[in-house]
This record gives sequence, C-alpha cells and structure tokens, in this order.
Amino acid sequence: MGAEDPRPNPLLDLRGVKKSFLSGGGIRRRTVVAVSGVSLSICPGETVGLVGESGSGKSTVGRLAVGLLRPDEGAVVFKGRDINAERGALDELRRRVSIVFQDPHSSLDPRMRIRRILEEPLRVQKVRDIAGKAAAALDRVGLPASGLNKFPHEFSGGQRQRIAIARALMLDPVLVICDEPVSALDASVQAQILNLLLDLRKHLGLAYLFISHDLGVVRHVCDRVAVMYRGEIVEEGPAEAVCTRPRHDYTRRLFDAIPGPCAQSGKTATEPAAKLREKHEKAVGSG
Ligand code: ADP
Ligand code: MG
Repeated sequence: MGAEDPRPNPLLDLRGVKKSFLSGGGIRRRTVVAVSGVSLSICPGETVGLVGESGSGKSTVGRLAVGLLRPDEGAVVFKGRDINAERGALDELRRRVSIVFQDPHSSLDPRMRIRRILEEPLRVQKVRDIAGKAAAALDRVGLPASGLNKFPHEFSGGQRQRIAIARALMLDPVLVICDEPVSALDASVQAQILNLLLDLRKHLGLAYLFISHDLGVVRHVCDRVAVMYRGEIVEEGPAEAVCTRPRHDYTRRLFDAIPGPCAQSGKTATEPAAKLREKHEKAVGSG
C-alpha cells in the first residue's frame, strides 16, 4: 500500500480480508459489511495503531487478527503461513498472538478465581509445568500473589485490566492485540495501564496492534498508524506523519473532531499524552 511496501518478514499479515455479519431477523435480516478488504502488516516488535470512528470495523479486524473470526475472503498470514489454509498455522497463531479487550468486567469470568483465569490458556495449550506461572504473571503486572485466590469482583477496573493483560501474556506471545485497552477505565488509571503496556513491550519485545480512538495516545505509543473508515483502511503510514500531515479528508476530520496533538490546528499535546510521554521518558532514562 505505502511507498515502503513490501515490508520484509511481517509477523502478521492481513491480506485483503473481508468480513460480513448477518444482523437482525425476519424481514429486518440484512448483511452488514464490517470489514471490506483490509490489508495490514505488523512486524516483530512493532506497534501499529488502528484508529477510526465507532463502527468502522476496528474490533472485527482485531478478532480476525487473533483467529477468533474467520475471514469471508482474503487471508490472515502468521509468520508466512495462512492460518486458514495451512495445517498447524492457526494453532501457532493461538499460542503466540493474544488479545486484551476493552472491558475487563466482561472479559474475566466472574465465577473463576484469578489463578484459574490465568492458568486457563496454559491448560488449553496443554502446557505441563504450570507451577508458579500464575503468581509470576501477576507479579509482572504489578499485583501481589495474594490475588490468586480472589475473584474478579474483588478488584478495581484498573486491576482487572492488569489481570487481563497478565492472562494475555501467559503463553509468551510475540504479538498482543489491544482493543481499546484503556477506554473503559477512569482517566486517572489510563496512564498507569498504558505505562504498563509500554514497559512490557520494552522488556518482552512485544509487537502490538493498538486499537484506539485516543489519537494523542496513538501518536505517543505507535510506530505506524492505519485509519479505518467504513470497513476500509483509508490511510496508513508512520504515526507522526499520519498525525501531523493527514492526507485523507476523513483522517483530517477525525483528527479535527478531537482536540489534542493530532488536531491540525493543535500544536500542543493534550495533558494526559504529554504527561504520559514525560513520565515514561523519565522512567526509561533512569532505568
Ligand atoms: P469498531 O470496533 O470500529 O467500533 P466493529 O468491528 O465492532 O467496529 O463493528 C463494525 C460493524 O460490524 C458495525 O456495524 C457492527 O455493528 C457490525 N458487527 C460487528 N460484529 C458483529 C456481529 N457479531 N454481528 C453483527 N454485526 C456485527
Ligand atoms: Mg470496537
């Protein structure tokens, strides 16, 4: 798509994927085209942002990328192998690519203790030696091992999202799909969770597909940005370039609708993004 394509050895490569849903029943039954021919690649260690208004198809792309949905057309290629055509490729994707959803309330089973929630991916993949892994995972996201015997409702929203992130890391993924990972959280907690994601990226060398509508955050966190509009990617490029010099009308309107660093007229960063950047740079600089 862009001038720099083709990109060498992407981890994940979406090639012209399409996905429609049937919605409604009886006479109201109709086909909704959620994603209509999206191509997007993510390289090892790279963070790709996916932005666009609500309903533009971002979450559907995320679910296609992690193998939760099967494309109607096109291919999802993980490490060079088509996950729907080549034997074992879907299993490998399921082991090495995970997802963090927007709402930690609905993504954690309320009847399960945290230990079971965290061990579940290991059991599904028949990992034999699981002793100590759940405690280590909690520690990695800044929660004490005493949390293992608790239930999700005993935690705050931010803590629950930490648990969801811990679960996403259980199988040592190379890529994590983050679908609006902080949108459901209080503003005061958002920066903490974003910093956690940035620290994990740095220490574990993760790649992220970072779905968000907070353009300040996207600009700060992402290497590249793709802009979705009505099921299609209308613009894609380095985060800084897309944010400061959007080429597509829709991107410009999207950015202008939101005050902050990506707004054409706005020269200064929004508080949260600026603070976040400053804090993180300090942390990185001192460590
Ligand atoms: P976004 O994450 O950008 O808000 P989605 O990918 O969730 O967008 O949705 C894109 C479109 O597909 C919307 O019109 C949505 O209503 C529709 N859609 C998504 N999932 C389903 C589904 N399981 N059944 C029916 N329609 C769906
Ligand atoms: Mg969504």
